[in-house]
Amino acid sequence: LSERLSGVFDRLTKQGALSEDDVKTALREVRVALLEADVSLPVARDFVKAVQDKATGQAVTKSVTPGQQVVKIVHDALIDVLKGEGEPGALKIDNPPAPILMVGLQGGGKTTTTAKLAKRLKEKEGKRVLMASLDVNRPAAMEQLAILGQQIGVDTLPIVKGEDPVAITLRAKTQAGLGGYDVYMLDTAGRLSIDEELMAQVEAVRDVVNPRETLLVVDGLTGQDAVHTAENFDERIGITGVVLTRMDGDGRGGAALSMRAVTGKPIKFVGLGEKMDALETFEPERIAGRILGMGDIVALVEKAQETIEAEQAEKMMKRMVKGQFNMNDLKMQLEQMLKMGGMQGMMGMMPGMGKMAKQVEDAGLDDKILKQQIALIQSMTKKERANPALLQASRKKRIAAGAGMEVSDLNKLMKMHRQMSDMMKKMGKMGKGGMLKQAMK
Ligand code: GDP
Ligand code: MG
Repeated sequence: LSERLSGVFDRLTKQGALSEDDVKTALREVRVALLEADVSLPVARDFVKAVQDKATGQAVTKSVTPGQQVVKIVHDALIDVLKGEGEPGALKIDNPPAPILMVGLQGGGKTTTTAKLAKRLKEKEGKRVLMASLDVNRPAAMEQLAILGQQIGVDTLPIVKGEDPVAITLRAKTQAGLGGYDVYMLDTAGRLSIDEELMAQVEAVRDVVNPRETLLVVDGLTGQDAVHTAENFDERIGITGVVLTRMDGDGRGGAALSMRAVTGKPIKFVGLGEKMDALETFEPERIAGRILGMGDIVALVEKAQETIEAEQAEKMMKRMVKGQFNMNDLKMQLEQMLKMGGMQGMMGMMPGMGKMAKQVEDAGLDDKILKQQIALIQSMTKKERANPALLQASRKKRIAAGAGMEVSDLNKLMKMHRQMSDMMKKMGKMGKGGMLKQAMK
């Protein structure tokens, strides 16, 4: 696929803004890539359509081709869809003992995932976990969980012959409470396909414990079927998240996209093998790269964008040293600050400044001010930005009004600019005549 795409890219080498044709040509290949990655047809179609609207007319970054730029846009859009709300991998397990219900079809990886997750909760979050198998039809399945429990050092509920799933669940709940466990995990029985008996059983268990999390475990290699399974379980039981297993296989991960697009449920973890530590937090970036199979191109476009930013910054430095720090330069600096998470973000990154960041936030002095200042500069003409000293009272009024602010705000901005400009000049002189010369002696 990558070769086919680079063929398309070679043909698309015009610079400037992305034309509709550029976008269409590149997206045709992207659609094929999605289908090959096992994304369902309607999902692929909707997705491509959305990207097409977004991409047409966007500026092409210097030194990358329009095709490459489209891929970057597609990649970012994929991540957007794949990302659910909340932090991936986070589970609601406060108020001990918190019940987690594991559901899914037989062979999907429920029992394995139950143990993997228990190990993770124990080791990464220091939780005390109790596991219980509700698979009364297959005694071997109960044994399987008990063996895994021993292996990872997590307790399992003792097996009592002849109990039904609801009775086991009640016993697990009691035991979890008495034993001071933080979490108890219920590994339900599966069937080869969705059937009424299975659903009724899971439903009965759900009603007994009111699970904090209900995780659907599905084989990520089954593509469309995985999505149907998720829809079914969600309709009947209500799921809070999905674990995609067998993502270590050579499937291309398209199920993840369909799953997100169709069910809207967050993918919380992925299974990457049979071993007990082969469970990882779901990472949209990784799956997006895998679906497109074009990580190199994405990295290339990102690099090109970074380089351009660096070039701009260097130009600004040169001008500053010459004492030419104008309003455009100030605007660029303000925008850079916004990008870094505003004043709070920057202060948050500096040691010891956390408290001040909080004060800034409380005073409402955050991104809003930066945005207002940028708006003020935007209301100026080109000439005025290059030489703010030109500004007369009437123009000041107009500019402030244009940005929805007072003249006093504009005066403050101009004062800040003057101070920064003076500082730059001093630094520039020091650099050229003073310190540099000293150092060179
Ligand atoms: P259950 O019927 O849903 O409980 O499924 P099991 O947990 O018993 O798993 C069925 C098989 O799939 C076992 O052989 C597991 O080792 C295997 N398995 C589970 N998760 C993964 C995974 O992420 N990757 C791979 N390669 N195998 C897995
Ligand atoms: Mg099982």
